[in-house]
Amino acid sequence: MQRAIGEMTIECIKGDITDQGDIEVIVNAANQQLKGGGGVDGAIHRAAGPQLVEASRALAPISAGQGVITPAFDLPNDWVVHCAGPVYSDDPDVPPQLAACYRTAIELAEDKAAASIAFPAISAGIYGYPLSEAATIAMETVGEAARSVISLRRARFVLFSDEAHDAFAEALSILT
Ligand code: ADP
Repeated sequence: MQRAIGEMTIECIKGDITDQGDIEVIVNAANQQLKGGGGVDGAIHRAAGPQLVEASRALAPISAGQGVITPAFDLPNDWVVHCAGPVYSDDPDVPPQLAACYRTAIELAEDKAAASIAFPAISAGIYGYPLSEAATIAMETVGEAARSVISLRRARFVLFSDEAHDAFAEALSILT
């Protein structure tokens, strides 16, 4: 599933974010301590090798909604943006924090003049965000940014399950 929005092609695929060799910047759903963890964070750290934890911990801690960028080391990409997604709750700060993750990742990728970025479903695993709500925020934020990017031309959402893929593809299909 892909659509041309603004300056970018936005696409949704089912897959593993550590396996996106044609993408310059991948985004990690990290924790605030940037010390590695489970889920997509664990997969990224395993694939990048031990230098990633040293590089990212030096930049910690960060708050929910913030992000930092490191080299990708043994991953087949150039950079990794580590975003701390919010833990899902009914706190009104939570949706803007999730949106800030996507915006920050795009800004950091643009600072590196990257043309391509890949995202996982930030906060939609251990952090408990309902998939359809997480997908709507992700697509609306990336879709909005797509209208004013300088270097980025491709944003790929890499979803790990059929359920996640379908939620993100649906959100992409109704983006106006
Ligand atoms: P969070 O703590 O932000 O919720 P998780 O890593 O628990 O982060 O989950 C975020 C999403 O990433 C979930 O939908 C999960 O299924 C997915 N995920 C886990 N491993 C991978 C992977 N290797 N590539 C892409 N997505 C993944």
